[in-house]
Amino acid sequence: MNSSIRKLFITVSFTLFTLSLFIGPLPLFSVPAYGKIDYRVTFNDPYNDLGAYRPALLANLDAAVTDWGRFIASRGQVWIELSTAGSTSGHLSAVPGHWEHLRNERDVSVFEGSGTSKLRTGYSFRPDQPDVIIRIDPNHLKSLWIDPHPDRRTDPVPEGKRDLVTTLAHELGHGFGIGGFIDPGTGDRPQVSTFDQLVNTEAEPIFTGSKANAVYGGPVPVIHFTAEADNVRLRHGGRTYWTAQTRGENWHHLGRCSPTEDEGDLSFFSIMTGCWKYSDSSGAHGLRVRVNKLDAAVLEDLGVPAVQSSK
Ligand SMILES: [Zn+2]
Repeated sequence: MNSSIRKLFITVSFTLFTLSLFIGPLPLFSVPAYGKIDYRVTFNDPYNDLGAYRPALLANLDAAVTDWGRFIASRGQVWIELSTAGSTSGHLSAVPGHWEHLRNERDVSVFEGSGTSKLRTGYSFRPDQPDVIIRIDPNHLKSLWIDPHPDRRTDPVPEGKRDLVTTLAHELGHGFGIGGFIDPGTGDRPQVSTFDQLVNTEAEPIFTGSKANAVYGGPVPVIHFTAEADNVRLRHGGRTYWTAQTRGENWHHLGRCSPTEDEGDLSFFSIMTGCWKYSDSSGAHGLRVRVNKLDAAVLEDLGVPAVQSSK
C-alpha cells in the first residue's frame, strides 16, 4: 500500500469509527450476508435440569433456526444459550444477552438487542456473552410436543399440543429483535428498542416498518389486549378458532387476535402471533406454525439481512 492510499484508508476507517460513535454500529457492508444463519449453542443448566431433553432441544432448535433461515441471514455466527436460569414457571422466553445503547432520540434512549446486532452487523459488543438467551422452564417442556423428526416437520402434532419447533422459532423471533421496553400495561416508553421505535401505540396499534407494511399490504397489526381472557372465539377464513388473550403479550407480538375484527393471513398465522389458535374449543387439533415472510420483513425493518437469492 503506498502512503497516499494508506492515508486515505486510515482517514476512511477513522471517519467510519467516528460516525459509529454517534449513530451506533454501522452495518458492515463489506461482510456478506450468508445464505443461512450460522449459529452455535451453549447450555446454562448448572443442575442438568434439561438432562435427557438436551438432544431433542438441539434438534428442534436447529429446525427453528432453519425455518428463519429460509428468509433471513446473518452477518456473523449467532451464539444462542439455552438456559434454565431466570426461567419463569410454565414458560419459555427469550431475551438478548445484552442491550446496546445506540443513541438518544428526543431524550429517549434507543437500544439494540445483541441478537439483532449480530444478525445485522456480525459484531458482538460483548463477545463473552450470548447473543440470544432462551430461558426454559424444564417442567414446561412436558406440556409441549417434541417433534421426533424436526427436520421434516410432517408428523401430526397431537391434539391440544404445540410443537417445540414452533415454540423455539417464536422465541428466536424475540431474541432476534421482536421485543423491547414498551410497558405492556400502560404503553409507556421509558426507553425503546429499535423494534419499539417502529410501533405506534395510539388507537389501533401498528408496526410501521416499511418492508413489513409492503409485505402485509398496509399497516401491520400489533397485539394490544386490554384485559385477560380465556376461550376467546375468533373467525378467520371461514373457520372458527379458540385462543387466550394475555396482556403480557402487548406490543411485542404481531396480529390483532380480535373476536370482532379479522386480520390478514400473514399476521393471523405469524410465528410472532400474540395468541396461539386452536381450531376447535377442545384444542382437538395440534398446532404447528411456520415463520412467514411478514415475520422476516419485520426483522428486515430492523436491519437484519434478507437471504440473497442465488441469481
Ligand atoms: Zn412471545
